[in-house]
Amino acid sequence: MNRRLYQGHFAKKRFGQNFLTDKFVINQIISSIHPSPKQILIEIGPGLGALTLPIAAQMDKILVIELDRHLADRLNQHPQLKDNLILYQQDVMTVNFSKLSATFKKPLRIFGNLPYNISTPLLFHLFKYIHCIDDMHFMLQREVVNRLLAAPNTKAYGRLSIMAQYHCKVIPILAVPPNAFTPIPKVYSTMIRLLPHRSFSHPYPVTDIERLNLVTRQAFNQRRKTLHNSLCALFADQELAKIGIYPKLRAENVSVEQYCLLANRLH
Ligand code: SAM
Repeated sequence: MNRRLYQGHFAKKRFGQNFLTDKFVINQIISSIHPSPKQILIEIGPGLGALTLPIAAQMDKILVIELDRHLADRLNQHPQLKDNLILYQQDVMTVNFSKLSATFKKPLRIFGNLPYNISTPLLFHLFKYIHCIDDMHFMLQREVVNRLLAAPNTKAYGRLSIMAQYHCKVIPILAVPPNAFTPIPKVYSTMIRLLPHRSFSHPYPVTDIERLNLVTRQAFNQRRKTLHNSLCALFADQELAKIGIYPKLRAENVSVEQYCLLANRLH
């Protein structure tokens, strides 16, 4: 049997196609999303509908974004989806989620078993629209989840950790083994929930998010350099010291809160 052929579809590696087949895992994901009929749920990469079909059955409508034309056609023709599916056959990286939220006049709940090859840039893309997102539930490669959750002074800690923890509370939900998918991937996966911090209860408010992007990019561009070297164009050593950052430290030794303080001090 060809291990890439599943339900009459030949899984495409370039689109990160590993379809969820484990019923227990599927049920766990659906109960942790806990959909309610009037909400606006958007699935990224519905594929053959492992999550789409059971969730659509509980919804007035479901929005899905699928790049693969063949899969999009299958979903459009699916008899169980014909009444409530709104399908965007496009690259999720080109989707303007603010516009979608404005169109449906509601905040968005986004979920998906993500194509692992684009998961990091996709998370950064979604952070741009965090103001119109209620929550996100994603299946991701375990290493990416480790980076999302990482604390300072660890190897996994980087820009992704800082920007994710700045924007959201990151909650791991379920560890998923490779054999829950077809074809079986080489990596382990973890399902997570991302809960955006609201402006009134933000743990470390930043006046301009672009400044936080700039400071973290500058610090992590050359991760092994001391902050004295990597941030010298932005801050004098005395300014770093004022918020408890010793200039001989490196990017990975600075907490999310300290990066936010730095961003707010940038002129
Ligand atoms: N949700 C299905 C499941 O769990 O069985 C499929 C998940 S599979 C890991 C990833 C899905 O994302 C595939 O259907 C793939 O075609 C789709 N995809 C890949 N790149 C995409 C992109 N840039 N934009 C939208 N969908 C994409």
